[in-house]
Amino acid sequence: MRLLFGTAGTPLSSRGTDSISGIRRVHELGLGCMELEFVRGVKMGEKTARAVYDAAKQLDIRLSVHAPYYINLNAEGETLAASKERIMNSARIGAICGAKSVVIHAGFIQKHPRGAVYERIKKAIIDIREKLESESVDITLRIETMGRGSQFGSLEEALAITEVDGVLPCIDFSHLHAVSGKNNSRDEFASILARVEEKLGQKGLDDMHLHVSGIEYSDKGEKNHLVFAESDFKYKELAQAFADFDIGGMVICESPNLEEDALVLKREYDGVVGNIS
Ligand SMILES: [Zn+2]
Repeated sequence: MRLLFGTAGTPLSSRGTDSISGIRRVHELGLGCMELEFVRGVKMGEKTARAVYDAAKQLDIRLSVHAPYYINLNAEGETLAASKERIMNSARIGAICGAKSVVIHAGFIQKHPRGAVYERIKKAIIDIREKLESESVDITLRIETMGRGSQFGSLEEALAITEVDGVLPCIDFSHLHAVSGKNNSRDEFASILARVEEKLGQKGLDDMHLHVSGIEYSDKGEKNHLVFAESDFKYKELAQAFADFDIGGMVICESPNLEEDALVLKREYDGVVGNIS
């Protein structure tokens, strides 16, 4: 399968709450991938990570990792050092799990000019890449498009920072909708994918990492995630756009009902492209 659908963390219907139970459940549900949620800290040890690798490999489930929320690369001193360390630990453990990508909320704009923030975050990302390379940790860093203007991660920023080797975007379509109230139609989704193609070429479309969920928002942007049925998010049109661009990669569902909406979106997509399931 070219485009895989899966859950942000262990599906709710899993037998246990651990990652291996999650991988098994993802497989049973007919989904293809899962994001390991290190969002409250990297608590997984190397031994568990090796067992996760084995389970995912055996069942052919592709993995990614979400780095901790407590990260701000637009910082100095201790905060910056701790933020880098959290990303590196996510990458180290993620790589042992066999994950291909680490998703990162890069930081906050605070009162700084956006251009200066970009340069600062870029420098921090370059430092992290160099460190990871020196340790032979092979994993892609994915800067996520964020749901509030106060956060680093506009579509432009997430694409621009791919000038650093080993960095690609995580396109969160629900965030891009929430931040402006726009980006919620087949045409708008298509123009986002066209921007990716313009910046990263066919390779970029072949290797996408996407987040999707229902979402509630105000004029300040994202408020919280919702299930598709209770939100205005046009997931059917998004599935159309995925098919129109024949994208490949991973689609991670972050709706509160995780696997249910992941399956809703997958079925929609399969229907559009004529996959028989
Ligand atoms: Zn995220």
